[in-house]
Amino acid sequence: RRRELVKLKTAKAVTKDGAVISLWANIALSEDLTDARRAGAEGIGLFRTEFLYLNRTDLPSEEEQTGAYRKIIRGMKDRIVTIRTADLGGDKMLSKESMSLLEEEPIDEANPALGLRALRFSFAYPELFQTQLRAILRAGVNTSVRILLPMISSLADVRNALAAIEEAKNSLERDNLRYCDEVRVGGMIETPAAIAMLGDLIPLLDFFSLGTNDLVQYTLAVDRTNAAVSSYYEETHPAVLRFISESIKRVLSAGKDISVCGEMAGRADLTPFFIGLGCRALSMDSSHIPSVKERILTLNLEACEEFARSLIRRKSSESARKAIAEFALANP
Ligand code: PEP
Ligand code: MG
Repeated sequence: RRRELVKLKTAKAVTKDGAVISLWANIALSEDLTDARRAGAEGIGLFRTEFLYLNRTDLPSEEEQTGAYRKIIRGMKDRIVTIRTADLGGDKMLSKESMSLLEEEPIDEANPALGLRALRFSFAYPELFQTQLRAILRAGVNTSVRILLPMISSLADVRNALAAIEEAKNSLERDNLRYCDEVRVGGMIETPAAIAMLGDLIPLLDFFSLGTNDLVQYTLAVDRTNAAVSSYYEETHPAVLRFISESIKRVLSAGKDISVCGEMAGRADLTPFFIGLGCRALSMDSSHIPSVKERILTLNLEACEEFARSLIRRKSSESARKAIAEFALANP
């Protein structure tokens, strides 16, 4: 079994009929890089940079952040590294002490998930955002960087973020500091608003990533951290499956790339669904990479496509779950 796992690590993730799938890792801290490499991750699809800001009483400086991002970019050599700007707020709050460096009055929110979170938080504290963007751009010196914007819900979100990136470049030039040769900017699809606006968002961005954890939360109006409603948090709810399908199809038909980076991407029983929709990159916790890869090696594209088509026609979670289990049985 050990030998099999070692072989699996270096094997390409391809379906029986030759569709090549990129398997990327989600990481939070630079220590996670070791696990990602050990699992055979071909890139980093999601670097949750907000963890640099948590569990401390100060704020990470530009130098500290540049070092942290550079470590990941260098550690992955020429492979893809996707750095998401800080998704702070919501269930990832700064400490009271760190917050007091930004704001005199403590902010008190009744619904943090619907509050000052992700890009909104970055826009509320432009200095914090500029520090992070400058650090990301500097970390990519002599190469290119991929910046991923969390929780976009309007065109203005994207336009403001792109303007902030331009501002960071300009200020680095004024300071005579070197930065990356090229920036590719992507957006997280994790709100229903982003899906409704996709036609307008697609031309503004280079790539997309489906954040299914929040997409489930915001589509079904279920707090992802609230145990009282955890039975309503259904990844296989038809509304979620249809939103995923619509997003992947629209982005691909516009000729742009889309990956999945929420927890659903690490579920081997859903791998045929994503592949069947045309998705060719999945980003997940490193621990799931071997099982998802093993699953891919057993799959046929045509069967996956038919499965995806039938799954989005299901009218309830139960029915979808049954179909997923049946497909697994029929396609071992
Ligand atoms: C998601 O929402 O699916 C996602 C990947 O982002 P996070 O879990 O960090 O909110
Ligand atoms: Mg999210």
